[in-house]
Amino acid sequence: MDSGYRIYLDHAATTPTDPRVIEAMLPYLTTLWGNASSIYYEAREARKGLDVARRAIAEVLGARPQEIVFTSGGTEADNMAIRGVVGASERPRKHIVTTAIEHHAVLNTCQALEAEGVAVTYVGVGPAGIVDPEDVRRALTPDTVLITIMHANNELGTVQPIAEIARIARERKIPFHTDAVQSVGKIPVNVAELGVDLLSLSAHKLYGPKGVGALFIRRNLRLQPLMFGGHHERDRRPGTENVAGIVGLGAAAELARAHLAEESKRLAALRDSLERRLLSAIPHCGLNGDPARRTPNTTNLHFDFIEGEPLVIALDLKGVAVSTGAACSSGAVEPSHVLTAIGLPPERARASLRFSLGRSTTREDIDYVCEVLPGVVEHLRELSPLYKKGVVAAR
Ligand code: PLP
Repeated sequence: MDSGYRIYLDHAATTPTDPRVIEAMLPYLTTLWGNASSIYYEAREARKGLDVARRAIAEVLGARPQEIVFTSGGTEADNMAIRGVVGASERPRKHIVTTAIEHHAVLNTCQALEAEGVAVTYVGVGPAGIVDPEDVRRALTPDTVLITIMHANNELGTVQPIAEIARIARERKIPFHTDAVQSVGKIPVNVAELGVDLLSLSAHKLYGPKGVGALFIRRNLRLQPLMFGGHHERDRRPGTENVAGIVGLGAAAELARAHLAEESKRLAALRDSLERRLLSAIPHCGLNGDPARRTPNTTNLHFDFIEGEPLVIALDLKGVAVSTGAACSSGAVEPSHVLTAIGLPPERARASLRFSLGRSTTREDIDYVCEVLPGVVEHLRELSPLYKKGVVAAR
C-alpha cells in the first residue's frame, strides 16, 4: 500500500463530508450569509435554503416539513425528545422505558432524569443485541410517559423491531421516540411505516457536516423546549439557524436516499466478505450480535486473548482506521455497555472491534484488511500472557 494511503472503516463514528454536500453549503457561507429571521434579500435567500432542507428531510422521512426541527446534532435531538416529552407531561409520577444498549445521548439523559425523580426501566437484550417487543410491553406501567428505543445500534448495527414496539406504544397511547442516527441513510427510515412519534438523526453520520441534526416531532405532540430564546423553529428550538449546516444536512439526506438501495447492497457484500474471510483466517474470533438483522455496513468481531485498544493502534500504524466501539467511550477502561448487555464477558467485550464501511470503501480496502489483520492479531497474541494461558486451558 502507498505510504500515506488510509483505509477508513469507522463510518459509524463519523463520515467524511461529501464534496457535493460542501458545494451545496458553500453559497450559504459566502454570499447568502443572511440571518434567516430578517426580511431583506440576504435573509430571504437564507430562509429559502432552510425551507428546501426542511422539505428534503421531511420527504426522506415521510413526514411533513412542519414536523422537522433542526438541532445541533443527534445528542441534542435525543435530549430534546426525552426531556421535552417528560417535561410536557403533567402526570404526578413519570416513568420511561428504554433499553440497555442505547447511545449515551439517551442513556445519560435518562440517568439525569432519574436523579430528578423520574423512574426508568432499561430493558435488556439477548445475545443477538435485539430487544424483544414483549419485554417492552412488560416494562410498561400506568406511569409510563415515554418509550425511547434506538433504531440501529451504533456498536453492533443491530436493527430493533421499531414498528412492532410502536404498535404497543400506540395501543397504550404512549409517545414513542427512536434514535435513528445510525439508520438514516443506511436502511429505509419512514416515520409512518415505523409508527414513531419522535425520531432523531444527525448529519455527520450520512456524509453531512458535524454539529447539525434534526428531530421529527409528530404533529400535535407537546414538547417542553430544552432552551429558551427567540421564536425560531416554531418556538421549539431557539437560536439563529445554522443555515449552511442545515443546507448540508438536506443535501446529504437527499444523496443518501438516491443511492440507498444500490449502496446498501454493495456495502453488505463487502462487509460479508470481510467478515467471512476474517472469521476463517483468524482462530478464536467470532461475530458479536445478530448476523442478519443489522445495517449493511457494520460488523463487530471479537478476537479473544487480546485487547481491542492495542489492536486499533496496530491497525492504525498499518493505515487502517477502526474502532473498539462508540467513539465517545474509546480510551475508557470499562468494556462497552452494549457488548456486556449482549452477555459478552468483560475480556471478550474488550477484545472486540467494530468495522463500519462506507461510501469510499473499495474491494481493495477489504482485501488489504484481510491480508494484514491475521498477522497483527497473531503478533499481539504472541505477546499476550492471556493467550498462552487461554490456549493451554482450552487444550
Ligand atoms: N445516537 C447514536 C446512535 C449515535 O451513534 C450518535 C453518535 O455517535 C449519537 C446519537 C449522537 O449524535 P451526534 O454526534 O450528532 O451528537
